Amino acid sequence: MRKLPFTREKLDEIAAKWPTPFHIYDEKAMRDNARRLRKAFAWNKGFREYFAVKAAPNPHLMKVLKDFDFGSDCSSMAELVLAEKVGNVGESIMFTSNDTPAEEFRKAWELGAIINLDDITHWDFLLDACLPGRDAAGQLAGRVMCCRYNPGPLKGGNAIIGKPEEAKYGFTREQLFACYEKMKAAGVKRFGLHTMVASNELDPEYIIDTAKMLFSLAREIHEKTGIDFEFVNIGGGIGIPYRPEQKAMDFEYVSAGIQRAYDELVTGGGMKPLRLYMECGRCITGPYGYLVAKVRHVKNTYRLYAGLDACMSNLMRPALYGAYHEIVVPGKEDSTETSVYDVTGSLCENNDKFAIQRVLPVLERGDFVVICDAGAHGHAMGFQYNGKLRSAELLLGPDGSVREIRRAETLDDYFATLDFGAL
Ligand SMILES: *Cc1c(COP(=O)(O)O)cnc(C)c1O
Repeated sequence: MRKLPFTREKLDEIAAKWPTPFHIYDEKAMRDNARRLRKAFAWNKGFREYFAVKAAPNPHLMKVLKDFDFGSDCSSMAELVLAEKVGNVGESIMFTSNDTPAEEFRKAWELGAIINLDDITHWDFLLDACLPGRDAAGQLAGRVMCCRYNPGPLKGGNAIIGKPEEAKYGFTREQLFACYEKMKAAGVKRFGLHTMVASNELDPEYIIDTAKMLFSLAREIHEKTGIDFEFVNIGGGIGIPYRPEQKAMDFEYVSAGIQRAYDELVTGGGMKPLRLYMECGRCITGPYGYLVAKVRHVKNTYRLYAGLDACMSNLMRPALYGAYHEIVVPGKEDSTETSVYDVTGSLCENNDKFAIQRVLPVLERGDFVVICDAGAHGHAMGFQYNGKLRSAELLLGPDGSVREIRRAETLDDYFATLDFGAL
C-alpha cells in the first residue's frame, strides 16, 4: 500500500477549508526528485531538464521546479505565457509544437525561445511569420534552431505514443539533413537536435538507446553539413510506476548508460561537447500529485459501486487509456475487511471509473479516497463535459502547511462564455 504524505486527520483539516475533490501536490517529494535528477546528470556540463508544461500547467509548480534550473517545454500560446509568467524566457523555453499557428511562432520568437521545428515546411513558415522581410542572416546568427527527428521504422514502438512511423511528429532522416543545410545557408549558427519517441517508458535501455541514436545522428549531420550541435534533447517519456509491481526509473543507471554512450560517440567521435537536454513531465510531478475525493454513495447492484465526488473531469487517464492508478483509503490502510468495487464518478458515461473490480477496504459514505500518481496529465486534462467543474489544486509545503495554487471552478466560470442577456 502506498505511503501518503498526509494522514486522515490532516485531510479532515484540509477538507474543512477546501471541500473535496481537490488535487494536492507534495512539494518536498517533488524537490527531492528534481534534485536527484540534476545530480544524476551532473557529469554533463549544461545538462538541463525542460519541464513539459502540459503535464501540470500550474505556475506555482513551475516556480518550484525553476529552483532547480528547470526550463519550460511549451507547445501552445498558453504554455508560452505560463513560462513567461514564471520568468522562464529566452533559452529557458523549448518550443516543441506541432501543426503550429503563426502567432505561436511569433510569440516564441519574441521570447527568444529555442524553436524546435516539427516539419521541414515549417522553416519557411517560421521565416514568413517572424522575419517577413527575410533579411534574416543578422537576426538568425544568435538563434538556436532545432529539429525534431522521427526515426520511423528505425525505432520500436511504445504503448502510449505508438509506433514512430505512425506518429504525426517530426522529420524523416533525409528531411533533417536538408533542413539543417537550409538553415545554415540562411545564417543560423547555433543548432540543436531533438526527438521524442517514448511515453511512460519504464525500460531504462529505451531511454539510453534514444540518447545513443541522437549522438550518432548529430555526428553524421555534423560530418555531412559541417554544423556543430550545441545540444541534443532526448525528449520526455520517462515513466512512473503506476502499478505496485512496477519499479521507478533509476536516474543514476540511465545517466551512467548515457554517459558511456557520450564518451564513446561524442568525445570518442571527435565532436565538440554537447549539452544533454530532456523534457520530462510525468516523472517530474506525476508521483507527487494526489486526487483526494470522498465516497458519496455506495451502490450494490450487479456489482458493488463506490461513487465519488470526483469524476473523470478531474483525472481522465483511467477512462482514456484504461490506466491503472493506486487507490488508498486513509485511516483504513490496515483494514482486513475488504470488498471489490468499481470506483466511479458522476459523469453520464460508463467509462467514468477510476478503478474496475478493485479490492479495497470496505467503504462507507464520507470516507476519503486518494487516487495516487495524479500529478501529471491529471488536473491538466480536465474538461467540463456534462457540466462538471475542475477542482482546486493545493500545494503541501515542506513544513506541512497547505496553500491553494488554483481555486476550484464555480458555475460562474462555466457560464462565463455565455450571454444569457441575449436570450
Ligand atoms: C508530452 C510531451 C513531453 C512530456 O512527456 P512525459 O511523458 O510527460 O514525460 C515532452 N515533450 C513533448 C514534445 C511532449 O509532447
